[in-house]
Amino acid sequence: ALLIEDSCINCDMCEPECPNDAISYGREIYEIEPDLCTECVGHYNKPTCISVCPIDCIIVDPERVESEEALWDKFVLLHHVS
Ligand code: SF4
Ligand code: SF4
Repeated sequence: ALLIEDSCINCDMCEPECPNDAISYGREIYEIEPDLCTECVGHYNKPTCISVCPIDCIIVDPERVESEEALWDKFVLLHHVS
């Protein structure tokens, strides 16, 4: 899963782009719900939130590093693909 760093400027570019509705406004900045973030596996070749973020403040969460396979499994679970 990805993580939004504290330097987020709340520009709101990423939130509407997430295919999993994993991004929402948190206490002070936008936040990613790790259980919903597939790093865009199943939707895009690379994380679309990173593509649209103007200040590059979205990183892989060091506490939620997941394999490609695990991200695919999450995609299947979230979207009920068989
Ligand atoms: Fe959403 Fe994709 Fe960003 Fe994860 S990487 S928060 S799924 S846009
Ligand atoms: Fe924050 Fe980047 Fe999202 Fe803008 S696009 S709200 S700066 S994480």
